[in-house]
Amino acid sequence: MSLAFTDTETFTPDTKTKDNTPLYSQLTSSNVSHVSYHYNPEVSNYHYGPHHPMKPFRLLLTDHLVSAYKLHEVMDLYQTTPASKEQMMKFHSPEYIEFLQKVSPDTVNRATASREFNIGDDCPIFDGLYQYGSMYSGSSLDATSKLISGISDISINWSGGLHHAKKYGPSGFCYINDIVLSILELLKYYPRVLYIDIDLHHGDGVQEAFYTTDRVMTCSFHKYNGTFFPATGNFNEVGIGRGKNFAVNVPLRDGIEDENYVKLFKSIMEPIISSFQPSVIVQQCGADSLGCDRLGCFNLNIKAHGACVKYIQSFGLPMLVLGGGGYTPRNVSRLWCHETAVLNNVELPNGKLPDTLPYKSFFGPDFSMHPNLGDRIENRNTKKYLESVRIRILEQVRFLNGAPSVRMDEAPTTYAKLTEDEEAELKELNEEYEREKKKIKDEARNGEQYC
Ligand SMILES: [Zn+2]
Repeated sequence: MSLAFTDTETFTPDTKTKDNTPLYSQLTSSNVSHVSYHYNPEVSNYHYGPHHPMKPFRLLLTDHLVSAYKLHEVMDLYQTTPASKEQMMKFHSPEYIEFLQKVSPDTVNRATASREFNIGDDCPIFDGLYQYGSMYSGSSLDATSKLISGISDISINWSGGLHHAKKYGPSGFCYINDIVLSILELLKYYPRVLYIDIDLHHGDGVQEAFYTTDRVMTCSFHKYNGTFFPATGNFNEVGIGRGKNFAVNVPLRDGIEDENYVKLFKSIMEPIISSFQPSVIVQQCGADSLGCDRLGCFNLNIKAHGACVKYIQSFGLPMLVLGGGGYTPRNVSRLWCHETAVLNNVELPNGKLPDTLPYKSFFGPDFSMHPNLGDRIENRNTKKYLESVRIRILEQVRFLNGAPSVRMDEAPTTYAKLTEDEEAELKELNEEYEREKKKIKDEARNGEQYC
């Protein structure tokens, strides 16, 4: 409860009382979750390069905002340690991890690195790259272990959520796929994992890793037009083998706005959760789906994005909450601070940001928590189109026929055993993807808009 003092009250607070007054107010709810926050400040010190849109500094801004609102008081805080080489090799190939460990900007052979490991403008070699990847992955694994042990109901790592990274190399600013590493751990203890991705871009790395299993359902909402990075994520990618229908893709056009996004999100997630009956949920909360993102093209405001997170929380299942994309640092940090409050069931005051906030000048000219980020991009999602998306996905969900049963004595692997036909189909899909990727590499970002 927040304390509000007026002139008419007989009790006048002294400075100390005022300083200790919470800046958030507790919302009443029967559903009280134990929330933990996993962060290592070092992760924000790395630089992809001066012109690169990914700025790890956004994580420091987020942490400052969370602290300025005193949200650290309502959660368990953990300073995390880096993931080990062995932990990262649970998904990534040893050759790739060893390459990351050895390479530096001075020693890199650019031609070889580009050919063998997809190193280039999007995924450059920078100082401390291996430490950076192990740092954010270590935070996700720490958050995962707190869920597994039952210490936390919800664990948050805003430095994680790097959903594009592949087994053999980086992709789309992502080097280590902390999400896949976390899900692999969760599969040791939980029968079914639901992965939800509300980043602007398709969660291709996670989808690919679990494309053949019915124990992980992946569901990604993203912009899709066939060329926009990573150029995957159309309806027809539904999984193969035992994983058929356990990959859901919601392809959206430019400019979707709050009401329709939240409505569509809820109308798709409700039947998926009822039908799949996940035992744990991993939500990737990429902030590039906000309006005004440097690489974005949607019109979402912070409250709408947060409403999706709140909706998933309302099912009362254990949740791992991760960051992801987001290229306008001030809005990334606003969003993730707002979502930290949402997950803790507290409300932040409307109005100006706290005076104690470091780097407050970054948040001008409005210095508020909720600037209007909508209406900048023409909305190309007609009601008819969105309805067709909804119907098509509900039809896919109907094929699930309830939750699959799981033999928990089976050791989890990223790839379930495939028949020869399925192997051939997966190989063909991968080859087609690689061909497509080469073809569109230069034009892949044509759909991006800057504001
Ligand atoms: Zn993204």
